[in-house]
Amino acid sequence: MARDSVVLRVDAVAKSFGALAALAGVSLTVRRSEVFAVIGPNGAGKSTLFNVVSGLHAPSAGRVVFEGADITGLPPEVINRRGLAKTFQITNIFPEISVFENVRVARQSRAAVSGRLGSLWSLPDVERPVMELLEAFGLDERRHQQAQHLSHGEQRYLEICLALATEPTLLLLDEPTAGMTPGETKEATALIRRIAQARGLTVLLIEHDMSVVMGISDRIAVLHFGQKIAEGPPEAIRSDPRVIDAYLGGADD
Ligand code: ADP
Ligand code: MG
Repeated sequence: MARDSVVLRVDAVAKSFGALAALAGVSLTVRRSEVFAVIGPNGAGKSTLFNVVSGLHAPSAGRVVFEGADITGLPPEVINRRGLAKTFQITNIFPEISVFENVRVARQSRAAVSGRLGSLWSLPDVERPVMELLEAFGLDERRHQQAQHLSHGEQRYLEICLALATEPTLLLLDEPTAGMTPGETKEATALIRRIAQARGLTVLLIEHDMSVVMGISDRIAVLHFGQKIAEGPPEAIRSDPRVIDAYLGGADD
């Protein structure tokens, strides 16, 4: 089956919490194999948009179409099984098992739901992709360590490994470099770009720090008070007066 070049379509999505319109009709289109960033000052509605896309919140209005199918209002685990992975919080890492085992479990959960149980106990089939992921993130030498002994930055890498182990079509990253040092942030953004390219992965990334996404995104959409105020390639976004205004007026950290 030929796959459409559009992976995700968000169509006039609105989400209100009481009187507050966290999202006031946002539309965007994410194309296959691109890194698409959603940026905006704190409170702009970025996480709410992610929560609607990943099924955590049902939208008040609008539609979400993933791989050609309407997924609006479906439960998160159903959306996840269709190939949309969101980075888990650190609490989803099993702290007391090894780095390798964490990724292996994630990988085998995918094999189980996709009916590939035949390969479940075939060690090389599981070991190879797990090791490839760990190598890509520089975690291979730490594979026998308990996950809880990784640094904060390494644990965030492990979270991304867990999401990638399920072989998603679309990877959602919510502020992947939060809490990292400037050095780690630089390294992590380069790594996300490299892995997306190597795997032909489609990435939807949200971030409040504009500088993080400039070097790695193909396209950027800017949210401000629940509305999309700009969209385009990084160079255009950087110099867009509406975006500069939103950041000067709305940035609170
Ligand atoms: P961002 O991720 O861009 O910082 P959010 O999507 O988290 O912004 O929040 C957008 C607005 O919606 C904020 O004003 C926030 O306080 C509000 N909000 C988010 N989630 C909830 C919720 N579960 N209940 C009430 N208000 C919420
Ligand atoms: Mg947020």
